[in-house]
Amino acid sequence: MKPIHIRFEHWYPKRILLPLFGLTAITLGRTLYFARSKQNVSITLIKHEVIHVHQMERLGLIRFGLRYFGEYTWNFLRMWDRNRAYLAISFEAEAYGKQNRVMGQDEADALREGGYEF
Ligand SMILES: [Zn+2]
Repeated sequence: MKPIHIRFEHWYPKRILLPLFGLTAITLGRTLYFARSKQNVSITLIKHEVIHVHQMERLGLIRFGLRYFGEYTWNFLRMWDRNRAYLAISFEAEAYGKQNRVMGQDEADALREGGYEF
């Protein structure tokens, strides 16, 4: 497995995603971006984002992005609630469902190779 890189206190989630959407993290390809510092990001959240890495590899970044925001928009139009619309995205349901699992050795190695220390 190729390395998974992590950026803490990154301007993108900090200045754009958090104020606009209330999101503290985003995954793009094999890089995880967090608004918070390393001490304030739980291993559960890292595992959650790693599941998004797998989803993006399954579908490709473009198809993942289109489906993700398509589902969010559809959910929001039905629910009129940002948080519920976000949680109902199929990719989020999968990630929340699996985020407490034991991480595979290959995933742990990929994070280590990306420079993350447990
Ligand atoms: Zn997520």
